[in-house]
Amino acid sequence: MAKITMTTPLVEMDGDEMTRILWRWIKDELLLPFVDLKTEYYDLGLEYRNETNDQVTVDSAEATKKYGVAVKCATITPNAARMTEYDLKEMWKSPNGTIRAILDGTVFRAPIIVKGIEPYVKTWKKPITIARHAYGDVYKASEMKVAGTGKAELVFTAEDGTETRELIHNFKSAGVLQGQHNLEPSIESFARSCFNYALDTKQDVWFATKDTISKKYDHTFKDIFQEIYDNEYDAKFKEAGIEYFYTLIDDAVARVMRSEGGYIWACKNYDGDVMSDMVATAFGSLSMMTSVLVSPEGNYEYEAAHGTVQRHYYKHLKGEKTSTNPIATIFAWSGALRKRGELDKLPELMAFADKLEAACIKTIEDGEMTGDLAIITTTPNPKTLTSEEFIKAIRKNLEASL
Ligand code: NAP
Ligand code: MG
Repeated sequence: MAKITMTTPLVEMDGDEMTRILWRWIKDELLLPFVDLKTEYYDLGLEYRNETNDQVTVDSAEATKKYGVAVKCATITPNAARMTEYDLKEMWKSPNGTIRAILDGTVFRAPIIVKGIEPYVKTWKKPITIARHAYGDVYKASEMKVAGTGKAELVFTAEDGTETRELIHNFKSAGVLQGQHNLEPSIESFARSCFNYALDTKQDVWFATKDTISKKYDHTFKDIFQEIYDNEYDAKFKEAGIEYFYTLIDDAVARVMRSEGGYIWACKNYDGDVMSDMVATAFGSLSMMTSVLVSPEGNYEYEAAHGTVQRHYYKHLKGEKTSTNPIATIFAWSGALRKRGELDKLPELMAFADKLEAACIKTIEDGEMTGDLAIITTTPNPKTLTSEEFIKAIRKNLEASL
């Protein structure tokens, strides 16, 4: 069989530890035998990031702007322990943060649904995609502890020196203070990313804040979403047969729990942080969560939601076989290949992506899976495979479908 051809390269961002090992196996077993794979390779492994003073991360993000589609392996975000482990020159920033800042994107996370891995919420039938605004609020807040009696105010000093003040509280006791901010351009690009992704995936968008209590801060989010929707997306949504709807965050939570899934839940930064872990866990497993960063210009970076699975990597280094789940990383590749196929009008490449995903799902539904799934599955007598055996089992199903 002739290999499927590609016209534009994917930006390939290699990573660290166990996921770097899986990356190689996935390419060797599931991609290179079938696709004439074109990639522009960037090594985001921590050693090379350190060697290039993290320039490689910036270059890979710039390449994503140039080509439009990237696929990324999980990477280490250095902390104190990693400084010594890798003898780092600096505590380099999170690659995901750097890439997100350059692409100005929104991260969409969705679970991969298979029979036998049942959501804890009985009504959930389709994936719930969480879109998290990745700028500002409590993540860029200034905080203060106050010792006792005194007045706290918000003060904004304009460039011409004019001051605007708002009383926060007249303290009669010790307490705490916090100053948060956000930016209209950031909220606008968040809204556009959500609406574009909704059109792309033909799903409704739900957005929720606490605008009844936060009449200026949260209300601005609500107004910006509504304005952009009315002016730029209303007609396109109607044509696509999808909806945008706004509600209060507490009402949204109640509706989500009663829903069937199958929509994009746009969340402010904190809500997205918390709710994505809840949704991931309730759907079954972090190792089955996909993640894609979408920029308002329509650049895409696909990855798994989990990290580098360090504990498994240390076992692997000792020569032990691990049963690390490669599914989310495989889906990062299939997502990127499908998007590349869509942009370059390569139906064969898109069909390959579909078949690769179907082969993954069939393998698990037939009872062959990695250890993380075997302990939660409702499938009787699951067979626990090592990562290598599992990837080979997927290959068998893939070959049968090609
Ligand atoms: P992790 O890699 O997500 O793994 C945490 C635990 O979750 C694992 O020890 C494992 O549990 C389970 N797990 C996660 N993915 C799995 C998979 N594919 N198959 C089977 N089990 C899986 O998080 P971490 O160990 O806390 O972080 C390791 C490194 O990843 C850190 O350096 C962090 O900076 C980085 N990180 C990167 C990204 C990213 O690049 N997007 C995201 C998060 C973290 P058991 O050990 O119980 O088997
Ligand atoms: Mg979190």
